[in-house]
Amino acid sequence: MTNIGFIGLGNMGGPMANNLVKAGHKVKGFDLSEEALIKFKKIGGLAAKTANEAVSDAEIIITMLPTGKHVEQVYCGENGLIAAAPENSLFLDSSTIDVDTARNVAEVAKKSNRMMMDTPVSGGVVAAAGTLTFMCGGSDEAFQKAKPILEIVGAKIIHAGAIGTGQAAKICNNMMLGIQMISVCEAFAMADALGLERQKLFDISSAASGQCWSLTTYCPVPGPIPTTPANNNYEPGFAVAMMLKDLHLAADAAEKLGVNTSIGQKAKELYEQMDEAGLAGKDFSAYFEYLKKN
Ligand code: NAD
Repeated sequence: MTNIGFIGLGNMGGPMANNLVKAGHKVKGFDLSEEALIKFKKIGGLAAKTANEAVSDAEIIITMLPTGKHVEQVYCGENGLIAAAPENSLFLDSSTIDVDTARNVAEVAKKSNRMMMDTPVSGGVVAAAGTLTFMCGGSDEAFQKAKPILEIVGAKIIHAGAIGTGQAAKICNNMMLGIQMISVCEAFAMADALGLERQKLFDISSAASGQCWSLTTYCPVPGPIPTTPANNNYEPGFAVAMMLKDLHLAADAAEKLGVNTSIGQKAKELYEQMDEAGLAGKDFSAYFEYLKKN
């Protein structure tokens, strides 16, 4: 049994912490939301009154917070988690944040003799119940310590390299995904216009060189895969707002480093248009419907 501190019990953190409790670990959790804490207590978690109380005797601390600003605030400073956690404890930040913040916070942790890894995830709320992919940045020692715990929550735990590379992998992956989904939507719109049945395009491209996850697992038109958001009025799934957050992280990194990501930039602009049209809460595959109307 490991003593685990868990900060951020929202849509993703809640089910992740739940699995750790079910696996028999002692999980002390904290969230600013009273509602999240009540849910956590119901599943057998130990609700702490403050973030620092949740980590005071923890061997491993997992955070699942909205943005880099939240992560910096919660970890750093005199009253931050780094100062409050025992020496030699290991921090795993699974929030999706920018690489610079991940590296800066890990540096502060290192100076205080605490290990840290960035461990963002791929897979949404459904996967948070146990089938996430974790992309881990940090030392081999930290990875070996983190792996058995992350295996309770994830199906694939991959060591990406040094600190920051977990977030780098997440940003690159989601930029591919955002671009890919738009290309699949455009292809279905073309098929409609050219008189090619949607199911036929699906059958052919699933077995041809246009094959990709956005087509074969998350098809954006109703029909070919009955379980996708396209068959449920584009309820998320993975909301446009979430995709936009990740494309902003990619665009900021590209600008700072001088990388030409013109299609990633264009994808960001297209999802921004959806946001402006009031579709931020819809699944990102709703780009198909938006495209057909505009
Ligand atoms: P969420 O808003 O549901 O949960 C975040 C939680 O953090 C909230 O409950 C909030 O009250 C809590 N919080 C904020 N500041 C806090 C603080 N100072 N102390 C304690 N608790 C605090 O968000 P989510 O969907 O769970 O996403 C969390 C992270 O996971 C984000 O970085 C997101 O980009 C990433 N992510 C989300 C998904 C998804 O599909 N939802 C998928 C992959 C990655």
